[in-house]
Amino acid sequence: MDIPHPVILRHRTAQELHDEFVRIWGVKPTSVVMPVVAPDGLLFPCDQLPGIKMSEYGRPVELYKGFSESLEDFARLGCGIHLVLDPTMSFIRSDAMHITDIVGESAAQLCIGNGRVRDLVAAVLGTGVDIACDVVKSAKVKLEGVAIDAVDLWPMGAKDERITPTCFCDSCIKGLELMHPGLTTKFKDFPNPWNLVLKDSGTGISFISNIRPSMLVSEVVGLSRQRGFHVAFGQNAGDPVLTGHATNLLLYIEAKHEHTVRSLDDIFDQALQDVDKILGYRPKRIIIMEGTNYGWTSGLQLGRLDRPERHGEIRTPDEVWFDPTSSETITEHIDFRSYMWGRARYYIDAFFSLVAQSTDPRLRSTTGIAYLSEDDVRQSLYDRFSMAIGSAYDSTSLISLPDLKSEGAKSRRLGFVGVPLTRKIGDELIRSLNIQPGKNRKLTSRTEFPDLLEIIKQVQQMKRSRAEPGDD
Ligand SMILES: [Zn+2]
Repeated sequence: MDIPHPVILRHRTAQELHDEFVRIWGVKPTSVVMPVVAPDGLLFPCDQLPGIKMSEYGRPVELYKGFSESLEDFARLGCGIHLVLDPTMSFIRSDAMHITDIVGESAAQLCIGNGRVRDLVAAVLGTGVDIACDVVKSAKVKLEGVAIDAVDLWPMGAKDERITPTCFCDSCIKGLELMHPGLTTKFKDFPNPWNLVLKDSGTGISFISNIRPSMLVSEVVGLSRQRGFHVAFGQNAGDPVLTGHATNLLLYIEAKHEHTVRSLDDIFDQALQDVDKILGYRPKRIIIMEGTNYGWTSGLQLGRLDRPERHGEIRTPDEVWFDPTSSETITEHIDFRSYMWGRARYYIDAFFSLVAQSTDPRLRSTTGIAYLSEDDVRQSLYDRFSMAIGSAYDSTSLISLPDLKSEGAKSRRLGFVGVPLTRKIGDELIRSLNIQPGKNRKLTSRTEFPDLLEIIKQVQQMKRSRAEPGDD
């Protein structure tokens, strides 16, 4: 049972959410999934990172008692514990740690390709793990796993047919170039290899995601022609040109995948250091992705994740959670759970990100909604919530899921992840939000946000204290 945001716990108790889950799905939840961070700040203080902004939703208020108290409540109901980290943390203001597109424009979201960012987000996750370890010590349940929400690690933009995937910060370019020297320069032109499979649709980006690791260059060209994306190349859309672009595209997808997996692996390694000794068992490492063969905004290719045991120096995740119906995706080597929501966490995260932008004074005045009136913001929240709730699956879709993993069965599916988020809860939640005034009114102080130097100093101190060689 995934509780994607603690604000839900202001409106329902653990017992009520447990019962809601049973009502929706017809079975009891065996585990609760709790976030360690909200889109507007931390949910608990992190000793190694003093001064980082706390979330408005971390404070005990109404029914919400606090992070560890909520874990205890669910543990008392017999729910094991999973923690989930969304490493994008747009509340941290630091251009040097933000994602950057190919032309050097940055966006307010942390880049996990940057070693300092990994140290920082791993410290947050590690603190959450420590708190959960304390909770499970005196409970009959386990800390079953730690998940990283990877559905939107690398958001994309588009303007006038120019597609701008991220990230091309110095750290990411270094990571990609190490694998294929000269590769990133192939994307500094227009049209470029992305135009084979990505297209500015005017209202968003159309994309081809059915790209498997075994795919041939000629198949990519064929798909591009079939979808009509090749017209971006105009008169140059002959086979030799498109084949050259498709070759570089497949190299990019491979390098992006490896770079992303290495980065996630490093976060898991740091956050779970020595936890097996404390607990006597190893909590699972889990990646949440959308469920397509290639996730453009996760940078991950499901088929490439699905490898036996350890691949080179990288540990494969123990589990992947994804939307079960978006393709014929089934894993052969690693376990998976079906995330019962269209595009997994994508629309849910988008809704809670708008909640943060609406209620956090700085985000309200620095993001796309700055000039919207309070009524318009509330309406946008209802619209985005409707979009999210419209992508939820109901219990009838459980029938179509692959078999559960068992002796003799080929399937590696362990179960499913459901979210007890209903329209009623959403309505109550939106009504209760304290929406901040827009940009045409007086802004609140910025002093509570640490500057870049302060954050870098903190992560460097952490790094020194770990006495481990840095990689970035
Ligand atoms: Zn980057």
